[in-house]
Amino acid sequence: MNVRKWVRKEVLEQQAYAADAIDCRIKLDANENPFPLPPSLQEELLERMRAVRLNRYPDAGAPLIRKRFARHYGVGEDSLMVGNGSDELIQVLCAALARRGARLLIPVPTFAMYRISGLNYGYRIAEVPLDADFDLDVNAMCGAISEKTPALTFLSYPNNPTGNCFSADRVEAILDGSHGIVVVDEAYFNFSGKSFLPHIDRRHNLVILRTLSKVGFAAMRIGFLIGPPGLVHELDKVRLPYNLNALSQVAAGFFLDHEKVFMEQTDGLIGERKSLWEKLKRLAGVQPCRSDANFIFFSCTFEADDICEQLLRQGILVKSFKYPSGGRSYIRVTVGTREENEAFIEALRSVIAK
Ligand code: PMP
Repeated sequence: MNVRKWVRKEVLEQQAYAADAIDCRIKLDANENPFPLPPSLQEELLERMRAVRLNRYPDAGAPLIRKRFARHYGVGEDSLMVGNGSDELIQVLCAALARRGARLLIPVPTFAMYRISGLNYGYRIAEVPLDADFDLDVNAMCGAISEKTPALTFLSYPNNPTGNCFSADRVEAILDGSHGIVVVDEAYFNFSGKSFLPHIDRRHNLVILRTLSKVGFAAMRIGFLIGPPGLVHELDKVRLPYNLNALSQVAAGFFLDHEKVFMEQTDGLIGERKSLWEKLKRLAGVQPCRSDANFIFFSCTFEADDICEQLLRQGILVKSFKYPSGGRSYIRVTVGTREENEAFIEALRSVIAK
């Protein structure tokens, strides 16, 4: 049967997001927190989850969590919306702003879901390469803004996969120049400490995305968005009514009650990032980029796909990139536990030496 006659061209033309489960001993490919919850907290969380009535729908729109997050981050409740991971919020933004012929602007390389969600909703995608330091090419971005008037611009801050935060004044220039919405995606905020949240009240076109996925709750799929109340009101019509399931709502409340434990873990990872970076720097042919995130992007004079394949034979999973497409080889490695990072460095050293 030929399904092509039914499916939209934009969908037919794209690749699904690659997130296959690959068997490995040390998983350093998806920017997760490597630490599980301490056992006593696991018990407490399970206890709370036991009380959930699984036969009932969850609270639609997670009003309690919305209220608690809003208070916690010092914004009005009507400025905040929770999602099934920030992936869902990217999709909701794309769905709500997809007027006919709308364009979506992204610097590249960046997080794949902006393009995928944009294409799914019929956007024409404008891509502007980052400069040689992986910072925003502000002239080219502003040029694209005046020429194409994008409805949506996504800036990953820090940027995935390069790991750096863009210069704040360049992000501001893009906010100043844009008639559309500029989304500053702060998925890795806890590793950078840099945020546009203090600008939220005086920026009418700024939306901030956050997630709990990088600090220890990737499995629970909890993200949130902060933006102008009028926009949030409209976005709320687009999300599915029960987008955050009841167990995730429990986990979100639990996170707020125990944030300190999660933050101690992330602070430890920031220390590990420094030592991993220094070890990478000492390897011949390897050039790590500055990182404000929980991963490090490094270029290598070797073929990244080959290296990743050989690392996987030793049970270590990392992600390979070509940038520009078909061009130079890069690898992105998540900062793991000290033992994982050491095993990775040893394996990389042995692979490179071959
Ligand atoms: N934004 C960025 C920049 C990311 O790297 C990721 C995860 N890879 C996401 C959003 C999606 O996060 P979530 O798990 O909350 O959907």
